[in-house]
Amino acid sequence: MPPAWTCPACKLDLATPFCPRCGERALQPRHLELRGLADALFHELTSIDGRLVRSVWSLLRRPGSLTLAYVAGDRKRYIAPFQLFLLSNVLFFFIQSWTGINVFSTPLASQLHQQDWSELAQRLVARHLEATHAQLEDFAPLFDRSVALYAKSLIILMVAPFALVLALLYWRSRRPFLTHAVFSLHLCTFLLLLFCVTLLVAALAQKLAGAGLDSATVDTVLSTFNLVVCGTYVYFATGAVFHARGAARVLEVVGLAVTAGAVVLGYRFVIFLITLHGC
Ligand SMILES: [Zn+2]
Repeated sequence: MPPAWTCPACKLDLATPFCPRCGERALQPRHLELRGLADALFHELTSIDGRLVRSVWSLLRRPGSLTLAYVAGDRKRYIAPFQLFLLSNVLFFFIQSWTGINVFSTPLASQLHQQDWSELAQRLVARHLEATHAQLEDFAPLFDRSVALYAKSLIILMVAPFALVLALLYWRSRRPFLTHAVFSLHLCTFLLLLFCVTLLVAALAQKLAGAGLDSATVDTVLSTFNLVVCGTYVYFATGAVFHARGAARVLEVVGLAVTAGAVVLGYRFVIFLITLHGC
């Protein structure tokens, strides 16, 4: 127990190490030395690191536990869901530009020839070129630059469909909508980290065998791997958070994994529409 002190902000007389109202800590003699400044910096940096490592570790090792901790009010030890999602975004787009492989921002050529909606895309692009009196050669580089930007800034759109599907699947759990939103943020964070691994594996395959995500085999193998890993995460996370049990649980997991696949494909398509409209 420290000697009695007065919180300088709240003017409360205290005998506890921290002020219960504002969290200020009792001043120690070493906090008045110059060395204390360096100590404080070190503490700040390592405590962010510590929380980040603890959050990611808990996300990967016990799916759902981070969501449960957040809704139960155990928040100080972890990075908040939205911040964690943003950090995984930064990492994902860093790895994406480093490997040069695109997951969400498909260039115009790929939109027109390699996607399930390519036929529709061809018709929409033709109409757009006609309306703007532009040529495909001039339009393509413009599109490719914008699509990368949109794919980066609108990725938060991925979170909403999961939250809605969760709310529908688990309406009987009577969890507040916040739980679904936080679960969804953690799931999307997990997916982005999974995509980071996928990108690195694809880049390695490209280097060793000369076949990247463009090759149908690599694409199929990695997509299947992603679906299985995503399904496993959802299986354990819904068990922990929503107490999902039995045969219904398997169906729900399949439903959510299919949603994940649809969200990624749908995101590519929505980004295509937005970019086409904005160009
Ligand atoms: Zn205080």
